[in-house]
Amino acid sequence: MRGRPEARHRRRPRYRVNRLSLSRMRSNLNRLLPLVAVCLGLFSAGLFLEASHAHSQQPLGPNADLRQALTAITPASLRGDLSFLSSDALGGRYTPSAGLDVAANFIASRFRASDLDAPVDGTYFQNADLTAYLKAKSNKHVIPADGQVQCKNVIGIFRGSDPVLRNTYIIVSAHYDHIGTLKTASGLTSEKPTSDDDEIYNGANDDGSGTVSVVALAKAFANLRERPKRSIIFMTFCGEELGLLGSRYYTEHPVVPLKQTIADINLEQVGRSDGDIARGSASLTGFGFTNLGALFEHAAASYGIRIYRDKRGDKYFPASDNYSFAKYGVPDSTLCTAFEFPDYHGLKDEWGKIDYFQMADLDKLTAEVIWTLANSKTAPSWNANNEKTKNFRDAAAVTYEGASIVAAR
Ligand SMILES: [Zn+2]
Repeated sequence: MRGRPEARHRRRPRYRVNRLSLSRMRSNLNRLLPLVAVCLGLFSAGLFLEASHAHSQQPLGPNADLRQALTAITPASLRGDLSFLSSDALGGRYTPSAGLDVAANFIASRFRASDLDAPVDGTYFQNADLTAYLKAKSNKHVIPADGQVQCKNVIGIFRGSDPVLRNTYIIVSAHYDHIGTLKTASGLTSEKPTSDDDEIYNGANDDGSGTVSVVALAKAFANLRERPKRSIIFMTFCGEELGLLGSRYYTEHPVVPLKQTIADINLEQVGRSDGDIARGSASLTGFGFTNLGALFEHAAASYGIRIYRDKRGDKYFPASDNYSFAKYGVPDSTLCTAFEFPDYHGLKDEWGKIDYFQMADLDKLTAEVIWTLANSKTAPSWNANNEKTKNFRDAAAVTYEGASIVAAR
């Protein structure tokens, strides 16, 4: 303790109550009372509305709890995460590389902060051995001297609340790898290097944007006071740029049975608004293949974003990790704000070029779709009227055979 106690007793109070100001305060207070009463009324009405929402029989649509949770997703937090993930320090996140492992640890640390369950022996890391895949593809340039190519899928689970539906899962995914540097990218880019000394493919939009969105969505869901019924798996893949290999490994070694996995919503290239899709719009690959497109279209109305069916989207359906799930009949789609954009697989795909405001809105509307799915008793399904889905429907019949806890396949 500092100072001498006896000196403190002797000291006079520094300021005295001024009677004039006290009476002024009282009269101010009298004038303010009606306002205070109105505010209290509004506040308790809000509480009531929120409570009645929470206990409503209607499971679909936004509620106050979700809206509150979504305040965790901000342009600034997305920019902060992406400026690290796509920094030169991570060296273009090639599979496999030290930079890729740093990225995996960063994502895991964010999952840990969101208190997600760690499903692989208490960790978020699934070691994916890609060696056999690569040997079969004769992609010799990526196989290092020891002949092994391993990388980590990063996986965290947000458990649902319903005693039955919590054993079903919605996957929200993105790939966190990219094409590395001038040394590793040959064959993966058609861009001719310019004369400046940039050697690193930072992969901010492809697919740092999807990765930080997955991280942000996990954080938002962790903010919910009331958990949705189904469980949600937040997952980021390695090895996508080498041919969807991390997601292929996952579907061949799933941490929860695929027959309990009702959808994969994949986020890829969700950050640029100067590509081949106009600002304020986004699309999904294979828009009409499942009813996921319609769910996004419906949710978009309140976010000022137009989700639309783009005929090019069918062509891009096999171009990202969602396709690994489609092969097993799990309904899936990739959300994007560009099929093609300037700097695609180029040295200038950097974090300064991202439209963070649009990305935050898109992430929020994605959260709403996930939330709706997670509270719905009906699982997404393939469109039986679309001939292009035949193989996926056939695969679904095998994967979901005997699965009774997911409806309307
Ligand atoms: Zn990509």
